[in-house]
Amino acid sequence: MPLIIKGAASSHGAQVTDNRVSETVAQVISDIRAGGDAAVRAYSEKFDKWSPASFRLTEDEIRGIVAGVPETTLEDIRTVQRNVREFAKAQRASINDFEVETLPGVFLGQRSIPVSAAGAYVPGGRYPLVASAHMTIVTAKVAGVERTVACTPPIKGEIPAATVAAMHLAGADEIYLLGGVQAVAAMAVGTESLERVDLLAGPGNAYVAEAKRQLFGEVGIDLFAGPTEILVVADEYADPFVVAVDLLSQAEHGPDSPAVLVTTSEYVARETLEHIDRLLPTMPTQDYAGPAWRDHGQVILADDLDEAYAVADGFASEHVQVLTREPREALQRMRQYGALFLGEGTCVSYGDKVIGTNHTLPTRGAARYTGGLWVGKYLKTVTYQEVVNQASSAELGELCGRAARVESFEGHARSGDVRAAKYAGAELPW
Ligand code: NAD
Repeated sequence: MPLIIKGAASSHGAQVTDNRVSETVAQVISDIRAGGDAAVRAYSEKFDKWSPASFRLTEDEIRGIVAGVPETTLEDIRTVQRNVREFAKAQRASINDFEVETLPGVFLGQRSIPVSAAGAYVPGGRYPLVASAHMTIVTAKVAGVERTVACTPPIKGEIPAATVAAMHLAGADEIYLLGGVQAVAAMAVGTESLERVDLLAGPGNAYVAEAKRQLFGEVGIDLFAGPTEILVVADEYADPFVVAVDLLSQAEHGPDSPAVLVTTSEYVARETLEHIDRLLPTMPTQDYAGPAWRDHGQVILADDLDEAYAVADGFASEHVQVLTREPREALQRMRQYGALFLGEGTCVSYGDKVIGTNHTLPTRGAARYTGGLWVGKYLKTVTYQEVVNQASSAELGELCGRAARVESFEGHARSGDVRAAKYAGAELPW
């Protein structure tokens, strides 16, 4: 039986969505649907105190903003985008259109077609999440999306210059300084000044994630990617100092970000707790990391690694870092996670910021049914068929006639009958 050494003080972090968040989001979406640009502006003023002449940046404005970003930052953005692009290109290459001949002259095929327009939400309420621009926009472009609209909020009234530069370098076709539900809803339903998109992608806070969830159906969404989570699986070979640093690295995302340690070593559990107590006050981001750890931090002692992996799977956490003697074992022993980080040589922060795998990942248990954002999320997998052999069509026609009549579909049956009769030179009974 796993032993809880530190439990979560609140279960809030585990809920899919808070009711108040849900109601606020529904109201904003409904107002924007009815009021268009004017409603978008009203909510931007209300939530972000932001009401520029135009939310969309002109090419001149973008050029000016990019020119103000230090060259080293631009160079780093290019390097990271290259890493993200290389991995996305490998993903694209792994998706193949195909066609099979299942009966003589019966051809069935599958194709992947990019959506025509995607909306990339790049979060930025608390921090300028520059890296989210790489993850959403570069990936969309590799998938072949023609029109990529990108939105990010101002940060306390300031333009997030590095984020705008990253959006531009990633290839965004339209850039809007607009955040939260108002951005997501404007992209999904369209306004007088913003043509609607076909699919929304990108992470965000609880409001953004809930807005995407409520709009799904009317618009496609990549996945439910809300407040960040980390789970570390550690055995006695793990360095508790590294465990503590890595847990806090994700807790700083926001006060609703769970950080969980599942370990087979009581020593690692106790030492990690001590390191966290010492490190937390040294973090400039302790206002977020502190409450996150206090309310949603957990330390669980497992009897052995089998139990540790089973407990970890139960969380279906967004990020799982494996700090054990044989970290690669996790590939065989775990099934439920957004992304795995194997061994001490890598960490969730590499995935978040630089290494090239996508950081837009499922949260709040969504890893039970989906992985993270990838090229395939921007593609529609469609099928087609052609029958060029009359005998095969006649055979299928007879089968279709019988199958459809079992379901009382006379119209369907007749489409089969007509081919069966025509190609066999027979008369139709009706
Ligand atoms: P954000 O851009 O997601 O949200 C900021 C917007 O929230 C603001 O523009 C504002 O309009 C809106 N908002 C704030 N308070 C509101 C309220 N009371 N009512 C209605 N709207 C309100 O930026 P953020 O808040 O900094 O959050 C970023 C989030 O993204 C974090 O939770 C982080 O963990 C998450 N994230 C998740 C992943 C993932 O893949 N799952 C990756 C990166 C970041």
